[in-house]
Amino acid sequence: MAKKTFSGGTHPKEYKEYTEKLPIENLPAPDIVYIPAVQHLGAPGKVLVKKGDEVKMGQKISDPGGFVSVPSHASVSGKVKSVAMFPHPFGRMIEAVEIENDKQDTPFEDFSERNGYLNLPPDEMKKLIQEGGLAGMGGAAFPTHVKLSPPKEKPIDTVIINGAECEPFLTADHRLMLEQGEDIFKGLEIIRKILNPKRCFIGIENNKPDAIASLKNIAKNYKDIQVVSLKVKYPQGAEKQLIYALTGREVPSGGLPMDVGCLVHNVGTAVSIYEAVGMRRPLIERIVTVTGPGIKNPKNIRARIGTPFAELIAFAGGYNDGAAKLIMGGPMMGMAQYTDQAPVIKGTSGILVMDEKMAALDEPKPCIYCSRCLEVCPQRLTPTLLGTFVEYERFEEAEKYHILDCMECGSCTYICPTKRNLVHLIKLGKMEASAIRKKKQVA
Ligand code: SF4
Ligand code: SF4
Repeated sequence: MAKKTFSGGTHPKEYKEYTEKLPIENLPAPDIVYIPAVQHLGAPGKVLVKKGDEVKMGQKISDPGGFVSVPSHASVSGKVKSVAMFPHPFGRMIEAVEIENDKQDTPFEDFSERNGYLNLPPDEMKKLIQEGGLAGMGGAAFPTHVKLSPPKEKPIDTVIINGAECEPFLTADHRLMLEQGEDIFKGLEIIRKILNPKRCFIGIENNKPDAIASLKNIAKNYKDIQVVSLKVKYPQGAEKQLIYALTGREVPSGGLPMDVGCLVHNVGTAVSIYEAVGMRRPLIERIVTVTGPGIKNPKNIRARIGTPFAELIAFAGGYNDGAAKLIMGGPMMGMAQYTDQAPVIKGTSGILVMDEKMAALDEPKPCIYCSRCLEVCPQRLTPTLLGTFVEYERFEEAEKYHILDCMECGSCTYICPTKRNLVHLIKLGKMEASAIRKKKQVA
């Protein structure tokens, strides 16, 4: 019997009221976009254009660097100003293509719906998905075609579309479900053609009753697609927790959803799959929630990939007095930004600006062994012990205690009464433990 939640987890304040009722607004394409060749997990792309080249909207400007990689595309038409190192949301300078927008939006090809796209062979569909530059839009940015290519011995019988959107503040997926629900189902139909699963779920936290009702209504026109209301609990939208909630199956330590016959794609990725296969339209824009107490008029914004964060913030009325901290994503798993000149990439679900009160960090104190971090860890790890191992640089012991299974959800840090920055320590420990493991594999 499927459960509709998972063990552990937390209930951070939601803050969805800033933007959940606000329809998506289109941000006019900016004068300049910066398209990084690295926007996904896996091998970096190889830039195909040079200074002075004319490009069209949707034209490929970088090739994938391998199978686990995707190309990038021009999100405007115009002229390449430079190929150089620019600020990137990953926190460092990364090679990007700087394009001066000619404001013509001349498309590279016709991006309207093709007749008979559902009759394409599955391999052709997967090729279009890779060529379209699709990487998971829930934030992880793993290449979509790779997830759709499980080995033969691991068939997928359950496809899950993830509409949980459990991160506080973020409402981009909520609005997408309300405003482009049909496109989510069209994307799911393509996934079905590729994988031929027995059943499909769309999982949505029950703090979005309008989205649940709307998608349930659309689902009446489709066979074997269940729209399921999930308990509101963080991190309900994490892959392993969502699979457990919907199927009762547990992804093993170190394993992947395919190990239990499941595939999970975000609702935004489902729409992109439809656009790539049905319309030959690559991933050149996405919806971003621009929100938080540091923003004057929070909004849900459709923006071109490569648009600097500063342009979205200006469109949302600019910074409030006291704006203190900029984060890409939500407060639990987002990435702190050192500049608002970093561009929107495929995994940019939100831009959060905290005020001083929200951003203030309490001084961490020693552990009082209350075990609350153990109770909330959705991966059933021992965060306090892992943090202590890392503090004493005992990385091999941390690995034995499954530090690499941590998905960096931040629940332990959130709940800790002494404000230990456990997730920061564990991230560091994961890097060291991975390096040690790689060295052993090479030796
Ligand atoms: S140890 Fe990792 S998975 Fe567990 S609560 Fe902390 S951040 Fe989340
Ligand atoms: S929640 Fe904090 S104080 Fe409590 S056991 Fe975990 S690390 Fe220690």
